[in-house]
Amino acid sequence: MKALDELIFDNRFARLGDAFSTHVLPEPLDNPRLVVASNAAMALLDLDPAVAETPLFAEIFGGHKLWAEAEPRAMVYSGHQFGGYNPQLGDGRGLLLGEVYNQAGEHWDLHLKGAGQTPYSRMGDGRAVLRSSIREFLASEALHALGIPSSRALCVIGSDTPVWREKQERGAMVLRMAHSHIRFGHFEYFYYTKKPEQQKALAEHVLSLHYPECQEQPEPYLAMFRAIVERNAELIAKWQAYGFCHGVMNTDNMSILGITFDFGPFAFLDDFDAHFICNHSDHEGRYSFSNQVPIGQWNLSALAQALTPFISVEALTEALGLYLPLYQANYLDLMRRRLGLTSAEDDDQKLVERLLKLMQNSGVDYTLFFRRLGDEPAALAVAKLRDDFVDLAGFDTWAELYKARVERDGDYSEEQRSERMHAVNPLYILRNYLAQNAITAAESGDYSEVRRLHQVLSKPFEEQAGMEQYAQRPPDWGKHLEISCSS
Ligand code: AMP
Ligand code: MG
Repeated sequence: MKALDELIFDNRFARLGDAFSTHVLPEPLDNPRLVVASNAAMALLDLDPAVAETPLFAEIFGGHKLWAEAEPRAMVYSGHQFGGYNPQLGDGRGLLLGEVYNQAGEHWDLHLKGAGQTPYSRMGDGRAVLRSSIREFLASEALHALGIPSSRALCVIGSDTPVWREKQERGAMVLRMAHSHIRFGHFEYFYYTKKPEQQKALAEHVLSLHYPECQEQPEPYLAMFRAIVERNAELIAKWQAYGFCHGVMNTDNMSILGITFDFGPFAFLDDFDAHFICNHSDHEGRYSFSNQVPIGQWNLSALAQALTPFISVEALTEALGLYLPLYQANYLDLMRRRLGLTSAEDDDQKLVERLLKLMQNSGVDYTLFFRRLGDEPAALAVAKLRDDFVDLAGFDTWAELYKARVERDGDYSEEQRSERMHAVNPLYILRNYLAQNAITAAESGDYSEVRRLHQVLSKPFEEQAGMEQYAQRPPDWGKHLEISCSS
């Protein structure tokens, strides 16, 4: 276990030089204090969880102090936002403080979000408010606990610094961790500004540090692009299988590592709704729940375009062609598991589609349906779930197909089936109304609810005594919360 001053830095991205990032110091918050910390994330840095409670912790992650070996940098990138190219983005309110490596030899970027203005702030104030910092913290740690690749969050630091959004709020910082903060938009920036040398240096950096296994391939860059396609297909399959809606799938928010990245107006589905739009600025539904699948491919095509100096168009097109079949295979595999099936049959896709259509028409809770399906033997479970559906005849037909399918599936006991299903079907997810309750309390200075919710969500598959209220469908007020895009 390490103390805070024992972290070991190796700032590889900063060494790429001033064409890639700019040295900027964090702008401290007034009266910084710990809102919440993740012990699991602390462990990734070999940090003793007790250090989170020390004044030094809040001072460092509230922007007052810095390790001598840190090298805070604002990264430059660009990207396609809602389909249009924006030539100049970059870390407008976040800084890569440095890269730390742990005892296991893993590198972790420490990125402080809400750290003040940078050369890339454009019209922004460089700040993040408490509300959005808590949402990012809870979501990244909750996704990780669900087995969905994501950037991680070490802590949220609250403050008295006033920040103006639709109304006056308080500034906060979230310390985000990832093996890399490089986005599709980094490659787009050097491509569209016609800087082939930097573009090459960036590609070499990503290849050697993050895709070393591709270096042995005959065409290393192509192998790397293929791996990025694969990781994104797997990631988006997980989002769709677990009902996660990202909300702002701009190419500057897409990680080169295929992890969930940059949290804005995201949501987990309560009722199943394929057309759900969680971003209220997204009037055309470009990033609606079901559109996440084709948008994943669109974003990969934007990255492919930026890689044309290194890879032939034919090879890139062929690699892009892997995305949809891979997505479909991953998604179907996950949905089979969610249904408790251990074998594959040709009609499984149809079984899933039929169920989702019924859930859509009846507004059935997406998370609880699968959890309850594993609570009892199949016949009893569907009999109990029947009441949630409006189209009873439709559901009965599906239930007959499902029971017969389970019957053919394999030779296992009811206990085994239930255990297997509960291990993949969470009881607790980050519902918007739960986040909202925690935020309301935190805004009035009570951080206990954020901490409790974080704890519950860190074991989403385990039924936790006394935590029944976190496994409920939203009350009426919490069903259609407008999540402000300003953050
Ligand atoms: P996002 O929508 O959070 O992905 O941000 C898009 C771009 O706007 C990025 O370049 C951000 O750094 C920048 N940005 C967002 N909010 C602010 C802010 N309050 N101050 C400065 N830049 C910001
Ligand atoms: Mg962003």
